Amino acid sequence: MKDTFKHQGLRQQLVNIIKAKGIIDDNVLNAIGNVPRHLFMDSGFIDHAYQDKAFPIAANQTISQPYTVAFQTELLEVKSGAKILEIGTGCGYQTAVLCELGAKVYSIERQNELFKNTSKFLPKLGYRAKKLIFGDGYKGLPDEAPFDGIIVTAGAPFVPKPLLSQLKVGGRLVIPVGTDVQTMTLFVRKAAKEFEQHEYGDFRFVPLLEDKN
Ligand code: SAH
Repeated sequence: MKDTFKHQGLRQQLVNIIKAKGIIDDNVLNAIGNVPRHLFMDSGFIDHAYQDKAFPIAANQTISQPYTVAFQTELLEVKSGAKILEIGTGCGYQTAVLCELGAKVYSIERQNELFKNTSKFLPKLGYRAKKLIFGDGYKGLPDEAPFDGIIVTAGAPFVPKPLLSQLKVGGRLVIPVGTDVQTMTLFVRKAAKEFEQHEYGDFRFVPLLEDKN
């Protein structure tokens, strides 16, 4: 596993691209500039690593588009030391971006193959999530709640109630909601029973799957 000057240069170009698309948070831009995205992809796709595009990974899943990762992370307003729950670990790229921001990351993945691979891979790059969990993200992580932020990285047909209830007051849930196309949605918990909701346009994700058993 190598990160060369060439990769770093390509990554800086990627940072400029997502900046031009409207990402302004310097911490987020630095995180994207630091995470070696090419190492998260199958070798056959390495040449595509620094294009602003989603790509296929194992188990019919995708590595999210860098702009989307940056956009969701910016909405999450991650402070160093914040406790963050991610739903949909996948290859761990978003997890790594959150680690770069100094978050204590808990991340749930429902596909065992991805869970196992990513659990081995992230520490090799020096990214240590607090916990990677094999399980169903619809339920959130009640044992570790409440969270400063929750980020869902798959398209949710509806907003799972447990995720709202596992936010701290002041906490933020960033979730793409919809079936074919998803509306990026932010919930801010203003008080125990009061949530503010904001919408940020259309995105496309693989579906957040429900385990029917
Ligand atoms: N965060 C990843 C994106 C992975 S794609 C990145 O940075 O690239 C979305 C992931 O959500 C897939 O790995 C998929 O298996 C997972 N997923 C789908 N439904 C889920 C569920 N109910 N609970 C947890 N993970 C789920």
